[in-house]
Amino acid sequence: MASTAIGELNFPARVLLGPGPSLVHPRVLRALGMPVIGHLDPSFLTILNETQALLREVFHTNNRFTLALSGTGSAGMEAVLVNLIEPGDAVVVGVNGLFGTRLATIVERCGGKALPVEAPWGQPIDLQVLQEVISRSGPVKAVAVVHAETSTGVRQDLEPIGRLCREAGALFVVDAVTSLAGMPLDVDAWLIDACYSGTQKCLSCPPGLSPVTVSERALAAIRRRHTACRSWYLDFSLIADYWEDQKRLYHHTAPVSMIYALRESLRLVLEEGLPARFARHELHSRALLAGLAVLGITPLPAPDVRLPMLNCVLVPREIDEGGVRAELLDRFGIEIGGGLGTLKGLVWRIGLMGESATAGNVLALLTALGAILS
Ligand code: PLP
Repeated sequence: MASTAIGELNFPARVLLGPGPSLVHPRVLRALGMPVIGHLDPSFLTILNETQALLREVFHTNNRFTLALSGTGSAGMEAVLVNLIEPGDAVVVGVNGLFGTRLATIVERCGGKALPVEAPWGQPIDLQVLQEVISRSGPVKAVAVVHAETSTGVRQDLEPIGRLCREAGALFVVDAVTSLAGMPLDVDAWLIDACYSGTQKCLSCPPGLSPVTVSERALAAIRRRHTACRSWYLDFSLIADYWEDQKRLYHHTAPVSMIYALRESLRLVLEEGLPARFARHELHSRALLAGLAVLGITPLPAPDVRLPMLNCVLVPREIDEGGVRAELLDRFGIEIGGGLGTLKGLVWRIGLMGESATAGNVLALLTALGAILS
């Protein structure tokens, strides 16, 4: 195509009710459009400090090492593992969906030995089985689990795993990509040593950054490494030299505009208040599931382990799963997600994350689905 034929960006409006990205508040879009300034400009360094303070509040942590990595949630996952794991280290990994599987893959790529504790997709990891694997595996460097498994809609209870890790002398790694700012997460109280998230889910910011927080205990383990971190770009000690107030050493050019956007989205989260935000996610999930039940559509996970922000529902066999999703997008401008891995073709993943979690969006989706399925 001739470049002259390519016009300005122009695409239809969308209601984002998939597994991410979620809808973005106009205040965040305005922040994104602010003039770019230098990433070492004192004014920008103040913005960095403010973003760190806001992140600590949302993560519920006092960890000094709390920052936004350049890259999406997978960058946070890889960064935590490549910094903590040395060749030969044993890491117990909860595998009950796509993202637990990804954790195990990255552990192996770091030269570690992944010890998977599996559960069927749609169920949480069993605490007793996890405990047995930890206790019979010799020294375990870390235990890694996904708080909100976006591929199945299942919540993992973290608090007892934190205690298990302390007893075993293992570091506790948590994937909070989908959970952060959508359901309770208490990094310090739950004894979490390394936790990463993504901007595009319940923070309702565009994709592009990975908020990460790391405990002093985990930083001490990193300092005791026998070998250098295998990644230069994701090396926490080099990245900290830029984020630390006293140092501010150039490592890579910070994605300035995305930091503006994250700062604004965090301000919005805390203006609403975390308890109110969690309650809003719960409320709209319940409303959605009640409406879907009328259409004969039921959730995959059991009630006590269901995620409020990611509703994974079974698609009745007579329904053309992909066809309905395509029609939702084409006729109504509504995006929902299909299944991944073993759930491909069997489920829909309906996200009600951050700005997307509203009564209007629930009603719009139910109305559109009703029209398509009638
Ligand atoms: N972990 C979980 C639980 C996720 O849901 C996702 C993305 O959906 C990721 C990790 C990876 O994040 P990203 O796609 O932003 O790299």
